[in-house]
Amino acid sequence: MTTAAAGSPRTYQVRTYGCQMNVHDSERISGLLEDAGYVRAAEADEQPDVVVFNTCAVRENADNRLYGNLGHLRPVKAKHPGMQIAVGGCLAQKDRGDIVRKAPWVDVVFGTHNIGSLPALLDRARHNAAAEVEILESLEVFPSTLPTRRESTYAGWVSISVGCNNTCTFCIVPSLRGKEKDRRPGDILSEVRALVDSGVLEVTLLGQNVNSYGVEFGDRYAFGKLLRACGDIDGLERVRFTSPHPKDFTDDVIAAMAETPNVCHSLHMPLQSGSDDVLRAMRRSYRSERYLGIIEKVRAAMPDAAITTDIIVGFPGETEADFARTLDVVREGRFSSAFTFQYSKRPGTPAATMDGQLPKQVVQERYERLIACVEEITWAENKKLVGETVEVLVAVGEGRKDERTGRMSGRARDGRLVHFATGDLAGRIRPGDIVHTTVTYAAPHHLNADGAPLAHRRTRAGDAAEAGQVPRTPGVLLGLPTIGAPAVPPAPVGGCAAP
Ligand code: SF4
Repeated sequence: MTTAAAGSPRTYQVRTYGCQMNVHDSERISGLLEDAGYVRAAEADEQPDVVVFNTCAVRENADNRLYGNLGHLRPVKAKHPGMQIAVGGCLAQKDRGDIVRKAPWVDVVFGTHNIGSLPALLDRARHNAAAEVEILESLEVFPSTLPTRRESTYAGWVSISVGCNNTCTFCIVPSLRGKEKDRRPGDILSEVRALVDSGVLEVTLLGQNVNSYGVEFGDRYAFGKLLRACGDIDGLERVRFTSPHPKDFTDDVIAAMAETPNVCHSLHMPLQSGSDDVLRAMRRSYRSERYLGIIEKVRAAMPDAAITTDIIVGFPGETEADFARTLDVVREGRFSSAFTFQYSKRPGTPAATMDGQLPKQVVQERYERLIACVEEITWAENKKLVGETVEVLVAVGEGRKDERTGRMSGRARDGRLVHFATGDLAGRIRPGDIVHTTVTYAAPHHLNADGAPLAHRRTRAGDAAEAGQVPRTPGVLLGLPTIGAPAVPPAPVGGCAAP
């Protein structure tokens, strides 16, 4: 690989926008670049040799933000000969060559289906002194074949599928990420084992629609079986998944969650709207009754389950009565948390050209009422936990005020955020360790535990965190599948739902 100065490797920085799947893709981008000899730039380094933007086309104003950030980098690049800028992810898949037309100082544009090409594209652009734009129309190799530099010592993402066969009218994902491709269960479990072998305690199985996992190889119960198989992996303490889809949710998944001890009793299931008319217009083919029915069964099987959701307010044509129905479902659903979004047009989606687009102030006003309703419910749900003992997996970066308050933070088994006092154990608890503590206070979005911890377990993940090591999963050693074709570059996933 070319070096910045004789003998010194080129440095890189990845800037990530969007959903968890993009975050995981960025781990792959980092793994690829490090395999190619690049080293990660220090956080404060304002002039890395390579800056990669992993973009999202789902969030509002994604393009303005990208072009604004590219604009800021232009003078930096001018002063730093040899610097390269690469743009990947959903927005790159969507805008393609337009990116280098609008920002000719960009060196590489790569799409969602060919992350693996990035090192070669950077080399080629440097050699030819010209921009390289490479976008593939479909996935050739499952993205998990890529080497991955994991960000966490204690928790890891594992893709089970990419793409989506649904056609929600507000969502750009199907056109940018393609049809669902399922990874073979044996390969998924190998990756999970590799993570656990390196000390990881918690794994989140990722897919746009985990409940349709198996559609490609004809097993509609494949996801429940996968959860049960995760239960057989020694050392794996927590299994989570995202995102389920109410349309495809089957009862065997609830049974698998309830009967597999390491599967966490937390469910993040996008509702989007409580109104059946709006769900129809969104082309979400379940109705509120089915949604609430699933929640009821989950609670019957796991009374301690924490259920969270995504809700879009102000979808085209949404009436006050439709919105009231969403509030009803929020009250009936008793969510422990909800991600709420104001609908806004995404070019390229069917909803963007629908009649009945609502004025901003109507959307804003409903949004504020929705947040007030959600917070009332989540606060009441959290208060029920005061006095309870929770098991916390200690995390990095979850408590902004920790330094000031002397607490540490992490997630309970049900996914709730817990800020806890460290008592006599201050300085001995590391990220990745497990702490048991008693909840003393509840807020709408977190719990506090201000007594001394009841127990502290040092873990291998904590040892790794203390030693500054992060796991790497070398995709090729896992015997991962190629999809259809040649052993060339790979691809990623996008985020279900978030409009
Ligand atoms: S919102 Fe989720 S289920 Fe619907 S099309 Fe987008 S990715 Fe698929």
